[in-house]
Amino acid sequence: MQQELKNFAFSFSELDIKAEHVEEAMGYGRGQSPDPFPDMIAYAIAQCDQLCDIHGSLLVPDNFSLDKAGSFVIEGVTFNVGKKIARQLRNATGGALFICTAGAGIGEKSKALMAAGDLIEGYILDVIGSVTVEAAIDKIQDSFENELVNLGFKMANRYSPGYCGWALSEQKQFFALFPENHCGIKLSDSCLMDPIKSVSGVIGFGINVKKTAYECQMCELETCIYRKIRLAKAR
Ligand code: SF4
Repeated sequence: MQQELKNFAFSFSELDIKAEHVEEAMGYGRGQSPDPFPDMIAYAIAQCDQLCDIHGSLLVPDNFSLDKAGSFVIEGVTFNVGKKIARQLRNATGGALFICTAGAGIGEKSKALMAAGDLIEGYILDVIGSVTVEAAIDKIQDSFENELVNLGFKMANRYSPGYCGWALSEQKQFFALFPENHCGIKLSDSCLMDPIKSVSGVIGFGINVKKTAYECQMCELETCIYRKIRLAKAR
């Protein structure tokens, strides 16, 4: 494969996010959130076409290699991802880096509501922001997987700096491989993404790669933002 930067943009409606997806990310079953959540979730979803500005990008490099010590190399840059991710990538012969954002509007509105004392409304928009960026990267991943299947490859799960044993500090060298402020995402000095509702990471692929369940059930990172979303998807 030749190095390629594939760019994507979606409207909120295109992602088909429903109240039940938000309920699951809040830790409830589908249709199980108590009053007043159903009405508040419906109201918040109705605002999201205005609040979201959804963009993503996949960098597919022409060289990718793994080493046995728990790292991969893309364009000469080594990423130390730790044993858990390295185990999942072990048969990958290629890898793509991704970034994706729901835009600044939804996070800013959530923060403003919380600052004004509307804690539940702010929290619901915060959750919808997370669900939105996950749905967008799912869509990007699905379209890339279709391309790979046509070339005879399989795809592994996606993994992100700051999770599953991969140090957040590697965001700096990760973002240096993308054009500056690509998709409108910047990094803070502490390696957090701005807009806050953004994701980044790697997707491995190869002929003998397997997609396995995330190990959230056994993971100690109780505060992980992906835990509820991934456990819900696995049910
Ligand atoms: S909870 Fe799941 S996604 Fe989050 S760090 Fe743990 S294994 Fe990774």
